[in-house]
Amino acid sequence: MSIQSVNPATGEILATFTELSDGELERVLAQSHAAFLGWRTVSFAARAERMRAAARILLARKAEYARTMTLEMGKPIVQAEAEVEKCAWACEYYAEHAEAHLAEQPVETDASKSYVRFDPLGPVLAVMPWNFPFWQVFRFAAPALMAGNSGVLKHASNVPRCALAIEEVFRDAGFPPALFATALVGSAKVVALIADPRIVAVTLTGSEKAGSVIAAQAGHELKKTVLELGGSDPFIVLADADLALAARTAAEARLINSGQSCIAAKRFIVLDGVADQFIERFKTELAARRMGDPLARETQVGPQARVDLRDSLHQQVAESIKRGAQRLLGGEIPAGPGAFYPPTLLAAVDKGMPAFDEETFGPVAAVIRAKDQADAVRLANDSPFGLGASLWTQDRVRAEGVAAELEAGTVFVNGQVKSDPRLPFGGIKRSGYGRELAEYGIREFVNIKSVWIA
Ligand code: NAP
Repeated sequence: MSIQSVNPATGEILATFTELSDGELERVLAQSHAAFLGWRTVSFAARAERMRAAARILLARKAEYARTMTLEMGKPIVQAEAEVEKCAWACEYYAEHAEAHLAEQPVETDASKSYVRFDPLGPVLAVMPWNFPFWQVFRFAAPALMAGNSGVLKHASNVPRCALAIEEVFRDAGFPPALFATALVGSAKVVALIADPRIVAVTLTGSEKAGSVIAAQAGHELKKTVLELGGSDPFIVLADADLALAARTAAEARLINSGQSCIAAKRFIVLDGVADQFIERFKTELAARRMGDPLARETQVGPQARVDLRDSLHQQVAESIKRGAQRLLGGEIPAGPGAFYPPTLLAAVDKGMPAFDEETFGPVAAVIRAKDQADAVRLANDSPFGLGASLWTQDRVRAEGVAAELEAGTVFVNGQVKSDPRLPFGGIKRSGYGRELAEYGIREFVNIKSVWIA
């Protein structure tokens, strides 16, 4: 099988790679396991030195890596540069905090001494998506390697050059060879990788469909998984919200990464009394965003990552309109090459439409009217997903009350949902389980070991 890098802005094939043979894959696994056996005994200080070097390399090669991302999956170049910087931040964060996050914890028992320690586990398989092709990998790799594990990356098949570039960062930063290894293989190889006795655990960021397959196989092999899956995040606008700021942020939150973010706001649930005003402002904001060549610095919306993904997004829009949604902006595939799809605004969206029930992974905003605050919370929670939520109100007490009621892994009040190395990140319901980032993330792939001494 071949793995191709295709520029989604033009359709041009940039590079073609041959999938690793079974023998080559065996070598990757053997080397990853051997590298782990050495690395597990290396001090936190020495690990941190390499992780800081990785951060420096990322920053020094920011322009090059950003261009690789943009060419391969169409992300606007300014956002690609910010993504490289954020990866450097995650490396620095874990270089600084891993030791404290994994410090032994004394526990009072009837023993003379008892405590909890956090030991590394071994090679962890990371099955990763194309949408944040650097960030998703670094937010797994920085904590996993700092904890003393090794990592094998099976990246999405449309971003092989990003996958190889990430391997290069860790190699050049002085990590032991193969401690972080990219395996250029298609998804058909994942089941066998999970079954391999050297792989101790699996982390997936991707779709529900891949989540089911991977969790089932890992369950069969009795291996731990972390699943970061899709979302249909609500963006709730209460009657006392700052509507101008809410509408501007709504456009940012929906169009980040050309709409292809798990935590992009997708369902805009607005109280009836302010809905008309909000929709008007939101439409103006969306219409003002510039779609075009992702390498141009002024571009705010690039192409979708693949033509097939763009086409299925359009199907969701068409089906929602067929079922009664009102198209206020966009919703048509533009002529010309590339996987472009314009910012699209749908109003009168309701349950039973794909724009409400499913994740729309592209620049499509669905506005839903709520009768009152309780109705807004009910609509927000009426979703199979539970990843992030954004809430808009100027009443702090009300905000904290609603935040407690929302079924989501993250709630941002008067702000756009973002990942941050200092805060745990993950979902509930069909958005997955487990957490990345902060001390919660680094403790996912360790042996939480109790030691009891009489
Ligand atoms: P995807 O199709 O599920 O692909 C993700 C990864 O899983 C790729 O490496 C893919 O490999 C692999 N894969 C796909 N089907 C598989 C199968 N049956 N068995 C084993 N591996 C399989 O998802 P995507 O389209 O790349 O990414 C978009 C999805 O990721 C969205 O749903 C988005 O919400 C979610 N996401 C979630 C988060 C989060 O933190 N919660 C963050 C970002 C994205 P191939 O490319 O070779 O098929």
